[in-house]
Amino acid sequence: MNKDKVQIAIERLQQFEPKDGHGYYVAISGGKDSDVIAKLVEMAGVKYELHHNHTTADAPQTVRYIREQYPTCIIEYPQKSLWQLIGEQGVPPTRLMRYCCKELKEHGGEGRTKVLGVRWQESSGRKNNRKMIELCYKNATTTINPIVDWRESEVWEFHREYELPHNPLYDLGYKRVGCIGCPQKGTKAMLEDFNRFPKYKVMYLEAFKKMLEVRKKKGLETSWTTPEEVFNWWINL
Ligand code: SF4
Repeated sequence: MNKDKVQIAIERLQQFEPKDGHGYYVAISGGKDSDVIAKLVEMAGVKYELHHNHTTADAPQTVRYIREQYPTCIIEYPQKSLWQLIGEQGVPPTRLMRYCCKELKEHGGEGRTKVLGVRWQESSGRKNNRKMIELCYKNATTTINPIVDWRESEVWEFHREYELPHNPLYDLGYKRVGCIGCPQKGTKAMLEDFNRFPKYKVMYLEAFKKMLEVRKKKGLETSWTTPEEVFNWWINL
């Protein structure tokens, strides 16, 4: 592991440590990058608390992993579950309509200085839009992304070097930890999710059933007549 990169990440955390007495709001997802972040704030000797946003569609392994490996982590529960949001929105989340991320994953830490494990290598969207330090004037929040310039190989090297734990989903072949059935994964990975976690398919179908009832009540035009039709349309997008 490149020692300079570790040192730089630590220095970033030390340099921007909030002086308001609250310390950092460190958001961890249960993924490999957030394991690194949790270790780095410890190594930097800064004040912090760990927070995890429970999405209601997390894999059971992720929920257990957070509870067992990070017992002091504060679990934040959303106001509405993914299943309620689907009913309300009248349409399932898609790659282009990720209304659920804002409600379930990105909330918390408003007015604080947050630390995230965002990395440029994860997507072109992140490469083009994310910075090491970000200021949001709307909600007075500062976000520090101390490993924004790390490659995936460096994240795993750091894991090995510091003998960090990792979410057991990686041992099942998962490349990323996220909601079960997340549309961002694409059809193949969504189907794999539902083969492995069939109960979640049942929950999506239930949500789609309620969603169709809402659409009918609102008089919205729709060509779907059953939750299964919605599911087949959605999974093949
Ligand atoms: S990870 Fe996917 S399913 Fe989960 S909240 Fe974000 S877009 Fe929605």
